Amino acid sequence: MIPCQACGNQNPIATRYCRKCGAKLEVKPQDVVEAVSRDNADLSAQRWFEGGRSALIIGMFFLTCALVLRYAVVPPMPLADVPPVDFGGILPAELPKTPVKVEAKAKPAAGEAVKKP
Ligand SMILES: [Zn+2]
Repeated sequence: MIPCQACGNQNPIATRYCRKCGAKLEVKPQDVVEAVSRDNADLSAQRWFEGGRSALIIGMFFLTCALVLRYAVVPPMPLADVPPVDFGGILPAELPKTPVKVEAKAKPAAGEAVKKP
């Protein structure tokens, strides 16, 4: 944009007269360089915005596909085949401290009579 020296109105590049007041614009090369670089920056920002929007749309598409595959196409996973743990109504921390004695029965030797307890 080229600023008007009379009223300050911003005019597009390549205009000879101000669009607001009609004064002849004195275009300095510096103004043109600044205007072109500013327009390019705006264009670059717009491209970034559109690129980001496209990426968002593509991401949403893949997310939707994943959800459809998960719940519509692939059957639900079977539950684990582990029986539920029953502590008999007490928490594991409250289990008795005394260890349970496990007596190994000695195998009777051949010919020896089995003692009865
Ligand atoms: Zn003007």
